[in-house]
Amino acid sequence: MRVNRRAGGERVSYLYRVDRAKPVRPMTSRKWGALALAMLARRTCPRCRLDVGYCIPRSYGICGMCIATEEQRTT
Ligand SMILES: [Zn+2]
Repeated sequence: MRVNRRAGGERVSYLYRVDRAKPVRPMTSRKWGALALAMLARRTCPRCRLDVGYCIPRSYGICGMCIATEEQRTT
C-alpha cells in the first residue's frame, strides 16, 4: 500500500479544527478566585479564625495550635 505522505498530512490537518478547539479555554480569573477562597477556607482554623498557612487536618478540623491547647486542657 502506497501512502502519499503529503496528502495524509493534509487530511490530518483537517481533523484538527481550530473552531472546535477554541471552547477549551484556560482557567478564568473567577475560577482562580473561587479556588483561592476554597484554599483559604481550608487553611483557616474555625476555632482561632487564623489563616495558619497550611491545610487544617480533617481529623481534627482545627489548627495545630488549637490541638496543642486542647491537649493541654484535657491533660
Ligand atoms: Zn486554631
